[in-house]
Amino acid sequence: MTRARRFCATFCLAASALALPALAQDAASALPAATASAASAASSASAASHGIAPATDAWRAALPRDPAAATQAYLDRLSPQARAKSDAYFEGGYWLQLWSLLLTLVIAWLLLRAPPAQAARRWCANRSRRVAQVASYGAFYILATWLLTLPFTVYQDFVREHEYGFATQGFGAWFGEQLTGLGIALVIGPVFVLAIFAVIRRAPERWWIGGAMVAIGFLVVAQVLAPVFIQPLFNTYKPLADSPLKRQILAMAQANGVPVDNVYEVDASRQSTRVSANVSGFLGTASIRLNDNLLRRTSDAQIRAVMAHEIGHFTMNHMAKTLLQFGLVIVAAFAFVAWAARALLRRYGERWQVRSVQEVGSLPLLGALFATALFLATPLLNTIVRTMETEADHFGLNLAREPDGMAEALLAVAEYRKADPGALEEMLLFDHPSARTRIYNAMRWKADMQPSP
Ligand SMILES: [Zn+2]
Repeated sequence: MTRARRFCATFCLAASALALPALAQDAASALPAATASAASAASSASAASHGIAPATDAWRAALPRDPAAATQAYLDRLSPQARAKSDAYFEGGYWLQLWSLLLTLVIAWLLLRAPPAQAARRWCANRSRRVAQVASYGAFYILATWLLTLPFTVYQDFVREHEYGFATQGFGAWFGEQLTGLGIALVIGPVFVLAIFAVIRRAPERWWIGGAMVAIGFLVVAQVLAPVFIQPLFNTYKPLADSPLKRQILAMAQANGVPVDNVYEVDASRQSTRVSANVSGFLGTASIRLNDNLLRRTSDAQIRAVMAHEIGHFTMNHMAKTLLQFGLVIVAAFAFVAWAARALLRRYGERWQVRSVQEVGSLPLLGALFATALFLATPLLNTIVRTMETEADHFGLNLAREPDGMAEALLAVAEYRKADPGALEEMLLFDHPSARTRIYNAMRWKADMQPSP
């Protein structure tokens, strides 16, 4: 989610084709958890170092049957320091979302108003062919926003991630990946901008309908192509070595209609210490991917619990549902953009030297308004994703029947996601349910489905 917003802050409209897939994928991806296991003696040291008191089989056997009391017993294993750190990290993220939007708005204003930006716009407008005019300005817009947000990106994605101990990359490697991302945006972004302005030209009044369709189309294509062409630019995927665990994961997947015959391991530790997994795939393709942090740091029971959750996303068709529901939000967002852009251009168009949305110079304005619409829709988008996460949790519990493995994995999510928020805070700002909510669901499942003899 934050990754999606980061992209959005950087490239706004032009790259919403990149941004929203990340958002959509988050819905169908991992417990992107830092799941430090305390289940085995081998990993208990690592658990303790993550601020989670290790647990033994005896501790688990002595857990209260009451779901609320059992949930509290799990949460009490988080050290006060670990909890304070993750609260600070997560709450800081709320503010970063706001600063990121404000920065986007300031940059849009600069691109509309500052003389050098206006000069660049005139240079693009002087290309002889319309296609070159639109594409060159689209590329300029992407490059300019990338450069102007770079200090913010460095702080948010590099400095802050290192401060909290989640990042593993040196600056050179990290910056290299940022350049790769920029390269991808410079290839896809201008194509997207061309498509949007072709629609605006054809239907200057009702362009928001066609524009939303273009955005949704890009989203679907990106969803299909990203796992094949884009993700391998950042990480290496290789088949997981044969093991009883791999056979169990495959059995769970195949028994639930996921058309896969292999499980892949991705070297996520190249970028971070976080654990994740996902079952990607759309329009007939599917792929189960575990990251190496997950394999290294958690018990088999936790991995089965997490993978059963991921299989739930696939079996319940969450990717298509996400695209459909996000699609409705995109249509509404484009309607807002069209309405607000017309009103603002009437008032400030002369000062910005942009007379109508048909001019490609309106791009920074459209991007800023789209980012604003998505920001305002955040509680709705979060709720769409959170609802599916809860469904996948229920599915995963039924499939893996590992409530304690699930609870253990979820406890570790508290390394970076506030464990125990207020109800309203969770509803508005959480794109996954909180650890308290999810552990409670697991403990309730256990009390109801595995009553003590
Ligand atoms: Zn999930």
